[in-house]
Amino acid sequence: MARLILLGAPGAGKGTQAKTLATLCQIPHISTGDILRAAVTQQTSLGVKAQSYMDQGNLVPDQLVVDLIRERLREPDAQSSWILDGFPRNVTQAMFLDELLTEINQVYTHAVNLEVPDEVLVKRMLGRGRQDDTEAVIRRRLQVYHEQTAPLIDFYKGRHKFASVNGNLHPDEVTTELKKFV
Ligand code: AMP
Repeated sequence: MARLILLGAPGAGKGTQAKTLATLCQIPHISTGDILRAAVTQQTSLGVKAQSYMDQGNLVPDQLVVDLIRERLREPDAQSSWILDGFPRNVTQAMFLDELLTEINQVYTHAVNLEVPDEVLVKRMLGRGRQDDTEAVIRRRLQVYHEQTAPLIDFYKGRHKFASVNGNLHPDEVTTELKKFV
């Protein structure tokens, strides 16, 4: 059983690593970014509400992501293990997650932070060519990360289930480090 909260800046490799670990260990990879992008593509009501925030590199309103995580963590396949990628993104969401996990009788096993220097993040994101990966939007996303998401490191550090992994290595080496937690 592994319930992993993967923390890190945009471009730190959360998505890549979560996908690899999920396949290796046969556990669900829950990415709020992926779910939101699918909703935008399909132009569902969630997608229509989220799109402008995403296009500008801002966080979408908490209520939207909180609702989708509440539903997703109640799905049958998510009862014993999961990897959360991109959620929580701020302290309000982290407090919501604590409450939700209590409510559904689950505990997370580790919160792991993937550490990568800012200049490497920008280079990586410029290289991946996603729709929200233009330089201005990337700068905004990094700013939002430092203002709203980075404080989660201290939030989880106090809990004794926190670990930090160097994300500025070859992806295979990062996977080897992360495997220790799943
Ligand atoms: P990501 O793929 O995790 O980089 O997410 C892409 C975009 O989706 C972000 O820039 C946000 O606009 C939005 N997003 C993803 N996860 C969250 C979240 N937990 N809270 C708010 N917005 C989110």
